[in-house]
Amino acid sequence: MTATDPTTIPAGRVALVTGASRGIGAEIATELLAAGYRVAGTSRSGRAPDGVLGVSADITDPEQVEAAFARVEEELGGVEVLVANAGITRDMLLMRMSDDDWDGVLATNLTGTFRMVRRATRRMMRARFGRIVLMSSVSAYVGSPGQVNYSASKAGLIGMARSVARELGGRGITCNVVAPGFISTDMTDELSDEVKDDYLARIPAKRFGETRDVAHAVRFLCSDAAGYVTGAVLPVDGGLGMGR
Ligand code: NAD
Repeated sequence: MTATDPTTIPAGRVALVTGASRGIGAEIATELLAAGYRVAGTSRSGRAPDGVLGVSADITDPEQVEAAFARVEEELGGVEVLVANAGITRDMLLMRMSDDDWDGVLATNLTGTFRMVRRATRRMMRARFGRIVLMSSVSAYVGSPGQVNYSASKAGLIGMARSVARELGGRGITCNVVAPGFISTDMTDELSDEVKDDYLARIPAKRFGETRDVAHAVRFLCSDAAGYVTGAVLPVDGGLGMGR
């Protein structure tokens, strides 16, 4: 009998990755492509890595979300795997955080993700199969000064994932969360050297994460090998949030 790699997938399964124009999302899209998925990547610009169907969609706009799904369904087929990765920060100390700072982050990270999940599961429920991965953050459970809005949104994703996992588990749909720590991307490049040094000192692995560290975890959670994993929060943080 030939051993097969359970993290590869039946050829042609359709995956949609949000925020795929750069950083972690681009790496996930590339990783899933290499694993044999047909991959669509949405972002506001519509840019996506080579081989990935790039679709322009702002997840804060319900009509753009609907149009994006219609395009992916037409060009690749029904979405079987959703990686809801798009997210933003708008850091500000609590006393100076405006309603706009709060609403903007919640609108993208939480409400936008909800909208993607609701739309994707419509078809997954009929197919009685689905894999959903939500991109949270270690900030969801350790907190982060200046990121009250961001941490709240990322904690909300954990509650969302666990509720989806309970509601749709009987339909063959899994819903899990990946919680990265400090990953080197445009998002973290913006931080000061002082903040970066402080993080590095607290990471047991003694290095910042790379986008591929996150992509490998996502690939596993999307695979048939992870069929009995649902409602889980998988930290990819070099141990930064350990013990929480
Ligand atoms: P990034 O800023 O490099 O990329 C974010 C992506 O999201 C971009 O493609 C952008 O176009 C897209 N996006 C943002 N708002 C959108 C909207 N309204 N509609 C559609 N697309 C939108 O960020 P990154 O570092 O690659 O982070 C990706 C995800 O991982 C985010 O959810 C982030 O919160 C999370 N995360 C990152 C880190 C880190 O250290 N980099 C740590 C924990 C969690």
